[in-house]
Amino acid sequence: MRGLGAFNADTLTVANAATVRGVPALTTSRRAHRIPSLTHDVLDWDDAGSSETGPGQRMMISGAWRRTASGAGLLAADGSVTASIFAEMSALAVRTGALNLGQGFPDEDGPPQVLAAAHRAIRDGVNQYPPGRGMPILREAIARHQKRFYGLDLDADTEILVTAGATEALAATILALVEPGDEVVTFEPFYDAYGGLISLAGGIHRTVPLRAPHFQPDLDELQATITDRTRLILVNDPHNPTGAVFAAETLGVIVELAHRHDALIVTDEVYEHLTFGARHVPISTLPGGWERTITISSGGKTFSTTGWKVGWLSGPAALVSAILAVKQFLTYVNGAPFQPAMAVGLDLPDSYFTGIAGVLRAKRDTLAEGLLRAGFDISLPQGSYFIVADPRPLGYSNGADFCRDLPGLAGVVAVPISAFCSPAHRAEYASLVRFAYCKSTDVLTRAARNLRALTPT
Ligand code: PMP
Ligand code: GLN
Repeated sequence: MRGLGAFNADTLTVANAATVRGVPALTTSRRAHRIPSLTHDVLDWDDAGSSETGPGQRMMISGAWRRTASGAGLLAADGSVTASIFAEMSALAVRTGALNLGQGFPDEDGPPQVLAAAHRAIRDGVNQYPPGRGMPILREAIARHQKRFYGLDLDADTEILVTAGATEALAATILALVEPGDEVVTFEPFYDAYGGLISLAGGIHRTVPLRAPHFQPDLDELQATITDRTRLILVNDPHNPTGAVFAAETLGVIVELAHRHDALIVTDEVYEHLTFGARHVPISTLPGGWERTITISSGGKTFSTTGWKVGWLSGPAALVSAILAVKQFLTYVNGAPFQPAMAVGLDLPDSYFTGIAGVLRAKRDTLAEGLLRAGFDISLPQGSYFIVADPRPLGYSNGADFCRDLPGLAGVVAVPISAFCSPAHRAEYASLVRFAYCKSTDVLTRAARNLRALTPT
């Protein structure tokens, strides 16, 4: 079995690293960087930053890339940058033909009305730059959505900003609001972009652990981590990768601590409609929440259009304007024909939104049952696309090694939870792996069957 390249900088195994790295790296021979890209989402930076100073020679390239990659755990020991775990695992699935339960994207199309609206918009000539804050038709639909589901009254002109996915909303928000040396608190494990963006902004990343089996934070630890040095509290709820939905008490404590320490709250709610018990509660709806919170979401998960990259944020007008000041120089704008299509999606009837949660819940149950039957310990997620499993009962104590071997053992790809952790905390999560269940029932059923191959006989 070939290695996967690096899961992280400090446990780098390089058997296949050449297929996934090569950033501004350090060997300047073009030949050394001529890397066949496996899929279009494998990093394809083979010539980036190289110079012609001679084969095998090295040069230092200064700039923010290094701390960004380091913050995301993607800086290898030799100074090169590895692909994200998601790109790497999708490439592994392509290479091995294994079922891809690694990267969190659906393998079926979303609502036909939404897809048709995008076709129509392209045909109707909606193909040039939209306004900097986003097309009014989409901002108004976002405002209606926030009112319908959460009772929030938003001014579509000043309190909403359309972005290139939740990722750009996170980037613009963190870059706009964090000064070098400010602390940003997240839970851990955390979505990889958080570590990269906090470091890019020069912030200091502090984390509060989420522990199996329920992955709810300890409120004393939360309280101890949020201090007067905290600038932002970044809350991903429902949570990737653990599937946790945070208790109302936790959300209330976050608001209280933000007030006490004069911190701002940023929420990442991309899985807002994908909960399986209690309905999602945005922090901005809590008493004292709105005035300190930037709420971020996107249409990728809700409408199975992860490739469209249409996201948005909302919050008090002054904060939104500050974020716009940065956002306008990241992408300026994006996705003109997809914006009216997203508006169609956001206006779909309630039955659509409850329907997708119901379908996903059944998929979660299919995969959970398969994992249990195969012999894993699991934590049953209350939301999101992901289920955390522990293969220790099957004799595997290292999740990264296990994921490396899993295509060969069972024809399935998963992602190690350690890829969502800072180096100092990886050991605590070493055995755990994440499986995505946002896949067709057929794929999940086959994966569940394949995983039985792991069961000791
Ligand atoms: N936040 C979380 C928690 C995610 O899982 C993802 C992945 N979709 C994103 C943000 C990025 O969202 P988008 O694709 O809209 O940029
Ligand atoms: N959000 C997706 C996941 O967690 C992947 C997004 C990405 O590839 N950056 O799997």
